[in-house]
Order: sequence, then structure tokens, then C-alpha cells
Amino acid sequence: MYKKITRFSRLSALTLNLVNGIKERVFKELLKGSFYGVKMRNKIRASLIKIDQAVDLPIALDSIQNCIFPGFCDVHVHFREPGFSYKETIKTGSLAAARGGYTTVFTMPNLNPVPDSIEHLRQELSIIENDAVIEVLPYGSITVEEKGEKLSDLESLSKNVVAFSDDGKGIQSEDMMREAMLKAKALGKIIVAHCEDNSLLKGGYIHDGVYAKEHGHRGICSESEWGPIERDLRLAKETGCAYHVCHISCKESVELIRKAKAEGVDVTCETAPHYLLLDENDLKEDGKFKMNPPLRGKEDKEALIEGIKDGTIDMIATDHAPHSEEEKAKGLEGSAFGIVGLETAFPLLYTGLVKTEIISLEKLIDLLSINPRKRFGIEEDEEDYTVWNLEEEYEINPDDFASMGKATPFEGKKVFGKCLMTVCHGQTVFMEDDFSDINE
Ligand SMILES: [Zn+2]
Ligand SMILES: [Zn+2]
Repeated sequence: MYKKITRFSRLSALTLNLVNGIKERVFKELLKGSFYGVKMRNKIRASLIKIDQAVDLPIALDSIQNCIFPGFCDVHVHFREPGFSYKETIKTGSLAAARGGYTTVFTMPNLNPVPDSIEHLRQELSIIENDAVIEVLPYGSITVEEKGEKLSDLESLSKNVVAFSDDGKGIQSEDMMREAMLKAKALGKIIVAHCEDNSLLKGGYIHDGVYAKEHGHRGICSESEWGPIERDLRLAKETGCAYHVCHISCKESVELIRKAKAEGVDVTCETAPHYLLLDENDLKEDGKFKMNPPLRGKEDKEALIEGIKDGTIDMIATDHAPHSEEEKAKGLEGSAFGIVGLETAFPLLYTGLVKTEIISLEKLIDLLSINPRKRFGIEEDEEDYTVWNLEEEYEINPDDFASMGKATPFEGKKVFGKCLMTVCHGQTVFMEDDFSDINE
């Protein structure tokens, strides 16, 4: 059955383009389950439809190459404002998100001031109000200044934040985490945790594996991540708090979360595109390969892909973490942790996981769009969507990014999938140049 959702009224060129444009193979993917697709009404009009079950196509679609998806939702980005606008601003970050097909993002609180009280949060909220081109929802910090010592004013923050996180830092004290979970549970909010045990870091900055040993680098062991996850899963079970783990990168984390889910713990988790597509064997002596957690071993990458396939990993977030050129120019040891990701996530994942038939296109849309909204209670807006040409191949070139951050380990990589347009709450927030020419 077709359920008509919305009609393109102001975009006749889009519809014209669509008439010439979804390949049968793509449409087959669309037909597999509950999915959004395009229904031709006549030569110049199309409707965005939801396909609930396999159906026969109403008309012959010869060579249509464009595809419409519900807008992507990234639960983990750093837009650096207020405090670090030399790295990124809410304006440039949200433009980058729109260009990557995102209509909703959640911003992490490692800012200045840290949104640990309603007064501090207000600064971020007012910039969002003025500058954001898509829906930008801030996290409140779990602890004051993300120091892990004293709870933020969770109660007063609660109504204005999507959830609570101290991303960038792990909460070291078990008692502190328990207190946070109890409070968050009472407020009906999710605790979103960057899991990192500082006592195990020992000055490390890449994975404590073969590459680090061979090249004389200090490594970060996997236990610094899975140790705190193990602790938090126990606490989540004890308190009944809804718990979400940020950017998991190693096989032990996948296994712990798989087990906790089977035991009924209210846990979800994310990983990022780079952990699924790269491992330590891809490392180069270049700051653009440095992020936290680090690229792990090949067996970790494979375990993450298994976690994606069996549903242990619920969503893919970018951990978009822009820095200045200078901050990223100091090699593996000296550069800041973090890479950009909003403008490359879909093409990388489509090329690396869907075209290679590791996962279906529908599964990828679940990971990027459907599951994050479900977990965090963000309503799907029928007027949030993004249009992609899945056939076009091109090279990733950071000079093209709308983000102020240019550091990505995928620079120069050939990918498929070009974003043509993104619409947020009915407003066109990104349109590709060539595409807008056609539109005139
Ligand atoms: Zn983090
Ligand atoms: Zn982060």
C-alpha cells in the first residue's frame, strides 16, 4: 500500500529530474520494507511516499537515479560554540550537516561555558536560535564544567536539552555516575557516556596495537573504553536508567553491550563511520588519522560490523569534531583528537557497506535516521528529507566542505552518493549547485 506523505509543490525541477532519474536496483531496496521512496504522479510531479510492504511499481521507472531519504539524525557532533568558534560555529556546523543530508543533530557540551546550568545553556541556545539552519539540539553536561566532581543542575536543564553527556571526558567515579543515573532516571532523560578510564591512558594517543609498537608511539588500550562500559552497564541495570554509549571502537565493547541487551538493560550505543571502515593498518603519520577513541585493530572493526548487522549497535554517529588546520598539523602525537564527518558519512557508508552488500540501504537509513530518533524521542517530520544521487562517483575533497574543519582520513577517497538537496521542516537548507541550475 502506498501512503502519500507529502507533495513537492515548489520543486518542479526536482520532479523533472526524478523522472529521468531511481535505478531499478535502488527501487528494489526501497521495496523491501517500510521505506521512503518517490512515486511518480505524472511527468512533472512526484510524491514522497512511505512503502509499507513490497508492491508492484505503479509505472515503469526506467532510469531514475535519485533517491529520497528521511533527514539523517546525528546524536553526536561538536559545533564548538560558544567558546571555540575558531574551530567551527553553529552556522558552519549546521550548514555542513545540511550538506551531508542531516536535518537534526545533537551538540556535545565541551564548550565554554559548559552548559551545566540554565544560564550557561542560554548562550548556546541563543546562537542556535539565530544561526542554525537545521534542528540543533544541545546536550546538557552531566557534571559541572565536565569535571566529574559535582552534578550539573540537571533538573533545570532537563526541559531544554535532549539528554545529558560529559562527552570528551569519562566520568571516573562510580559514585558520581550512579548519582547521575538516578537523577536522570527521575527526570526521564538518557545518560550518554564517553567511556574512558584516565588511569589507563598513560599518555597514549593511538591504539595500543601493532602500529604503535612498530612506529614507537604510545598506545591507548581497549580496556580504557570497555572497563567503564562494563561498570556503567552494571549501574544502568542497578538504577534502571536509560543509558547510551558514545562511539564504541573495540570488540569487547560490542560483546559487553550485546550481553547487557540480552539481559534487558536499557542500553543503546553508537559507533562512527571511521571505526567501521578503517583500522590501525590504515594509519599514517598524519594528524587527520587521530581521534578519540583511536582506530583499533582489524578484529575490532570486524566485530563492530557484526554488531551493526545483529542490532547490538543501534546507530551511526559522526562524532564530527572540527579543529583548526594548525591544531591538526602536528602529526599523530601532537595534533588535537578529532576529525570531521558530517559531509562524508553517507557516501562513505553507502560505498563501504551498502554497495559491497554488507548491509542493505534500508538498514543504513535505520542507522542514520530512524533508530536515533526512536531512542531519543525525536518525532519524525515528513517535511524533513534529503535527496541523493547514488550513482555519481567523486573524490572526497575537504576544500569543498562547508565545515571549518578539514581534517578527515578519507581525503582523496573515491565514493558514491552525492547529496543534491536537504529540506528541514519544509525549508530547503541545502541545494547542490548543478541541481539548482536545473531548477531554474
Ligand atoms: Zn567522546
Ligand atoms: Zn565527541
